[in-house]
Amino acid sequence: MINIAKPVIGPEEKQAVMEVLDSGIIAQGPRTKAFEEAFASMCGVQYAIAASSGTTALHTALLAHKIGAGDEVITSSFTFIASANSVLYAGARPVFVDIDPRTFNIDVNHIEAVISERTKAIMPVHLFGLPCDMDAIMSIAQKYHLAVIEDACQSHAATFYGRKAGSFGTGVFSLYPTKNITSAEGGMITTNDLAVDESCRVIRNHGMRVRYYHDELGYNFRMTDVHAAIGLAQMGKLERFNAARQANARFYNENLRGVVTPYTPTDYGHVFHQYTIRVPDGQRDALREALKENGIGSEIYYPVPIHKQSFYVNELGYDLTLPETENAAREVLSLPVHPSLSREDLETVVNAVNHFMGG
Ligand SMILES: *Cc1c(COP(=O)(O)O)cnc(C)c1O
Repeated sequence: MINIAKPVIGPEEKQAVMEVLDSGIIAQGPRTKAFEEAFASMCGVQYAIAASSGTTALHTALLAHKIGAGDEVITSSFTFIASANSVLYAGARPVFVDIDPRTFNIDVNHIEAVISERTKAIMPVHLFGLPCDMDAIMSIAQKYHLAVIEDACQSHAATFYGRKAGSFGTGVFSLYPTKNITSAEGGMITTNDLAVDESCRVIRNHGMRVRYYHDELGYNFRMTDVHAAIGLAQMGKLERFNAARQANARFYNENLRGVVTPYTPTDYGHVFHQYTIRVPDGQRDALREALKENGIGSEIYYPVPIHKQSFYVNELGYDLTLPETENAAREVLSLPVHPSLSREDLETVVNAVNHFMGG
């Protein structure tokens, strides 16, 4: 079986975990601090704040930007549910904008049309490892005085004109096992804003600045040092993992026939969290079935856009049409692209796809 995702855990991670367990400090401590410093340096920002997951990191980042009841956050509907749910947790409302069909990312040409009095932030989601058009987004944000919270949960070390995803506004990363690097569960917030950094640290730890004095509502969103030890060991491998994903993607780009391969605009550094093709003419589900029969895992990210999820429709009253988002949900299929695929695995996938598509 060729799996769609596979975390790569080596002796370094195992040894680091054992050291933490032996150290007596297993909750948030020195490993978490070291992981935060390494992550900030990788991302090219001044501060990084670890959290218990990408979801809690998104929630924390929104609260640190004082987003709450009555506010609106502009984002994409073609993403994992956590992007929009985190806006709901903060008490605000996600406002969805259609995607650019070539990149699967938010179409920056549609953002200004949905800006209202209530708009507080833009949350671009760098989907599948490809950054959004951050020049356009930052200039809209500046013009309307909006915060930018980048959902970079799938884009560790991806670049936009040489600059890292998560370094433009406040960045948020996930460290879930399927992501480009993992800490088992975990998240990270990146920022150059000292006030945001301080606020995130307080929210993460029960609104506590002075021990057992609570000035605001906070949460337990801390990372443990056991998780940080895994994450820190993975940090040293990120560049190699991403290079392997990029090489796998290049092989697919050069060899796949009959499907639409991913588009990477010039000067964008795609890190291929997913390698997502479009399968035209309603053949997507049959191709997926054929791959499965050949022992090849594939996945649909995402079959139902957020604005069409039953909770959003029935409970929150969303009633809108986003044609490109809905088209993408019908046509996309993600193929295995993780770093531990062999050349033989890649050839197996290519042969199975091309055979099905009649190439
Ligand atoms: C994985 C992911 C999240 C949530 O991260 P968790 O660590 O699973 O909580 C949020 N947004 C996107 C785009 C993701 O892919």
